[in-house]
Amino acid sequence: MDKVAPVTIVNVGYRSTNYWVVSAGTSRLLVDIGWPGTLGIMKANLRKIGVPLREIRYALATHYHIDHAGLAEELKREGVPLLVLDVQVDAIPIMKTWTKPGDNYVDITQNGNIIISFEQSRQILSQIGIAGEILHTPGHSDHCISLLLDDGSVFTGDLPPEAYAFDNPCALASWKLLREKGATRVYPAHGPIKSIDETPGVRSPE
Ligand SMILES: [Zn+2]
Repeated sequence: MDKVAPVTIVNVGYRSTNYWVVSAGTSRLLVDIGWPGTLGIMKANLRKIGVPLREIRYALATHYHIDHAGLAEELKREGVPLLVLDVQVDAIPIMKTWTKPGDNYVDITQNGNIIISFEQSRQILSQIGIAGEILHTPGHSDHCISLLLDDGSVFTGDLPPEAYAFDNPCALASWKLLREKGATRVYPAHGPIKSIDETPGVRSPE
């Protein structure tokens, strides 16, 4: 079997939001795409970890809310293709209704968007050296998705923590799916990385 470089994960987030650079060597995926009007901060944070924009093969938003996809169009203009799941397409134009003029949000056009189905995700990811798939995980919004790597790392966006989702059957079903698919380590869009079995706010012994 070929020796495959393990996937590495680095947070380039700011303003209480995590933006994850998932890398297989220098082939990279950006999971969640910055607040509107913050391209300079995003670029500076990428520079700090030594990641040129051209190494980011795709940007992927867990969902189209402004703290998660605010820079999508600007990054496209910088040469980073936007990977969109088919369930997310209709949410994109709605995003601008949540922005104010002062946010300097650049509206996301359809130009160059790469629209895929969940079934296609494993193949698309494998082409950039990342073993994993993208799953539909509604619960925060209907169009929320999660990236699940084969090593058990899962990027859940704003999916409400399982322990607090007792009144949200949709979110509970999403967590059930993620567990069945082998998720072990949770990389949320806000807050620290956790084991999937760790109750939020309670420290598990290391
Ligand atoms: Zn959020």
